Amino acid sequence: MENKGVLFVVSAPAGCGKDTILNEFFKRTDTAGYAVSATTRAMREGEINGVHYHFLTVEDFKEKIESGEVLEYTEYCGNFYGTLKKSVGDLLSQGKDAVLKIEVEGAMNIRRKFPDACLVFILPPSLEVLEKRLRGRGTETEEKIMERTAQAKTELKFAENYDYIIVNDDLNVAVEDLLGVFRAEKLRKPRRESVLKSIMGEEN
Ligand code: 5GP
Repeated sequence: MENKGVLFVVSAPAGCGKDTILNEFFKRTDTAGYAVSATTRAMREGEINGVHYHFLTVEDFKEKIESGEVLEYTEYCGNFYGTLKKSVGDLLSQGKDAVLKIEVEGAMNIRRKFPDACLVFILPPSLEVLEKRLRGRGTETEEKIMERTAQAKTELKFAENYDYIIVNDDLNVAVEDLLGVFRAEKLRKPRRESVLKSIMGEEN
């Protein structure tokens, strides 16, 4: 008996390692897919249009909002980011779990629209480690680093609104934790009604 796909949201401030965790996670699961967002920010080296994001002009992005193709969107660091209905719908209709890698405001909007979405927050082991990781990226000015650290601290305050908290102290443990969250979440009773009914039905 198949479970229906679940909507998962994974959030973490910059420097918490969410991309690395998710990349590993996707290598180890075939039941979940990444819901590709749209953004107006410039493409970074190594990024592929349609894989990492759908890279849009501001005009095209606004058109998608107006035509109702965007589930939620936000402005973050001067760029628009939004979850596309189609990205999520395509995964769920295949019975897959849809993973949204979005920031905290977007996550709260998803929660309001889809109360049974599962929200996972990734934390750094400490604020000191987070600042060190942000500095470790190299090229940025002290002012930028302070700005990003302040932004990260603001985002961390949202963690208490999430369902699961994962601490990224050790990559492998964090990936295992995320796999564990997905596995457990899919077994929660409200998601198992049809399994329950079919088994009980066979008994009667
Ligand atoms: P980046 O520019 O580093 O790829 O992403 C910046 C932030 O935007 C990250 O926290 C990322 O998770 C978030 N983000 C990416 N896509 C979306 C989206 O569709 N909606 C929202 N609300 N945030 C997003």
